[in-house]
Amino acid sequence: MSWNANVLTLYPEMFPGPLAHSLAGRALDDGIWSLDTVQIRDFATDKHRSVDDTPAGGGAGMVMRADVLAAAIDHVLERQPQAPVIAMTPRGLPLTQLLVRALAAGPGVSILCGRFEGIDERLFEARTIIPVSIGDYVLSGGETGALVLLDACIRLLPGVMGAATSGVEESFEAGLLEYPHYTRPTEWEGRTIPEVLRSGDHAKIAAWRKARAEEDTRSRRPDLIERHRDV
Ligand code: SAM
Repeated sequence: MSWNANVLTLYPEMFPGPLAHSLAGRALDDGIWSLDTVQIRDFATDKHRSVDDTPAGGGAGMVMRADVLAAAIDHVLERQPQAPVIAMTPRGLPLTQLLVRALAAGPGVSILCGRFEGIDERLFEARTIIPVSIGDYVLSGGETGALVLLDACIRLLPGVMGAATSGVEESFEAGLLEYPHYTRPTEWEGRTIPEVLRSGDHAKIAAWRKARAEEDTRSRRPDLIERHRDV
């Protein structure tokens, strides 16, 4: 059985979108992963097919209704009860490579894409849902966040990347950013590839890469060093 993604959205036509191309697209064609989109509006109960209402307490915008979203979630849980349910929200836990690995190792994922001002908080109390944020900025909808999450998971599924690029040396895998890469031409605009990478000395190359990974992480992402120290 393939790794299955259920995406609950008001814009099913946004999927698979970019995931129909390159590695993810080939894997979709090969049946390594599959995709089911669920139109949230199909679970509305009034004649206008409303999925949102005004915010309690006042304020701008609209809020997605818990009753409509719960019906959509219950529908996917019936179809695939083992897949964790994730809601895309800037109020969520940060999406990390650790979470991506855990999700990729499971049977798949169901992702609820928010719109408007967000989701009625009672939904998170009434259902087991992992709130996930893709970063400290605000998107117009959860769909682009879902595409990011799915892309990160799909490339880790067995058979998607070649054996040579298993992903274990990449950024975040060891709590560090990856070392920098170079390729031909050896000299470009007066800049040469670091000598050590052309030496053929594998031990020296590994030591140089480790040192650069640490140096770049320290200067660009000191938070990663701190986080890794705490693990
Ligand atoms: N009012 C919300 C707030 O300030 O937290 C922002 C709502 S945003 C305009 C609409 C939807 O986009 C959210 O419900 C969520 O699904 C999605 N979204 C926005 N930023 C996101 C992020 N950083 N990570 C994941 N989803 C996000």
